[in-house]
Amino acid sequence: MFRIAYVNGRYLRAAESAVHIEDRGYQFADGVYEVVAVVGGALVDATPHMARLARSLEEMQIAWPVSPRALSHIIAEIVRRNGIGDGMIYLQITRGVAPRDHAFPARARPSLVVTAKRLAPQRPELVVRGVPVITIPDIRWGRCDIKSVSLLPNVLGKQRAKAAGAYEAWQVGADGVVTEGTSTNAWIVDGKGTALTHPADHRILGGITREVVIEVARRADIKVAERPFTVKDVFAAREAFLTSTTSAVLPVVSVDGRPIGSGRPGPVTMQLRERYLAALARQARRIARNAS
Ligand code: PMP
Repeated sequence: MFRIAYVNGRYLRAAESAVHIEDRGYQFADGVYEVVAVVGGALVDATPHMARLARSLEEMQIAWPVSPRALSHIIAEIVRRNGIGDGMIYLQITRGVAPRDHAFPARARPSLVVTAKRLAPQRPELVVRGVPVITIPDIRWGRCDIKSVSLLPNVLGKQRAKAAGAYEAWQVGADGVVTEGTSTNAWIVDGKGTALTHPADHRILGGITREVVIEVARRADIKVAERPFTVKDVFAAREAFLTSTTSAVLPVVSVDGRPIGSGRPGPVTMQLRERYLAALARQARRIARNAS
C-alpha cells in the first residue's frame, strides 16, 4: 500500500486521496497508465516508459496534465516521500472530470494520479521451478497497443489463471495465435533456439521489458524474432517464458497442464533473465551515481 499519493497537484495521505465520481477514468475507463520499476531508489527504463505514455496519450487524444519534466519531478518526489527502495510507481492519466457523456468534453483538464509501493523480492521458487500458465480466448479490442486502464478482459483472464492455480493466462486469437498474457508478454524458444515473441502491433501491448529483452538477446548473440506463434508452436517449443516490469523474465514450464520442453526452466530463458537483471542493476547504479 502507498502512504502518499500525488492527486491533481497535491501530495495526499492514502486515506485522504480521492478522485471525483465523474472522473472519466471511473465512468468510462477513459485513461491510460504506466508502471515503472524502482531499483535501489532509481527509476529504471524511465525513458521508454515515458515514450510509451506519450504515445498512449496521443492515440487517446488526451493532453499532458503537466509537462513531461514536471511529471518526472512528481514521480521522483513520490518515490522519495514513500521511501521506496525496490518497488514500482503507478501513474494514471484520465481525460478528466465532466458530466457523463460518451463524447469528449469540450473543456476537461486531464487528471493525474501517481502512487508508489514497495515490492517484495520475487519468490525464488517461481524462478527455480518456473510457473504454469493457462490459455484463454483473446476477447479484447483491436487497440491493445494503447496502455489503457480499460482492463476488464485482462482482469477476468488473470482471475481464471488464479482459480486454475496458474501464474498467468496466455490469450489466444481466433487464428490460434498467442498474443500475450493478461499483464505480461509471451515468449517461446523454438526448436532452432530462436526466442519468439508477437510483433509489437495492435494486438499486444508493446512491453518495455519485451523491448529490453530483445536488445539483451541481440547483444548476447541469442537469436530473437518478433514473429507470431500459435498454441501448437507452444507445445512444440523447447522453452517458454514471460516478461513484464514486475515479473522480469520468468520461465513458463507448463501450458494448460502440459509440460513445455523438459518441463523445467530452460537455458535460454535463464540466460536472458540473468542478463536482463544485470542490465537493470547496472542502470540503477549509474542513475544513483549521477544523482550523488
Ligand atoms: N502486456 C500487457 C497486457 C500488460 O498489461 C503488461 C504490463 N503492463 C505487459 C504486457 C508488459 O509490459 P511491461 O514490460 O512494460 O511491464
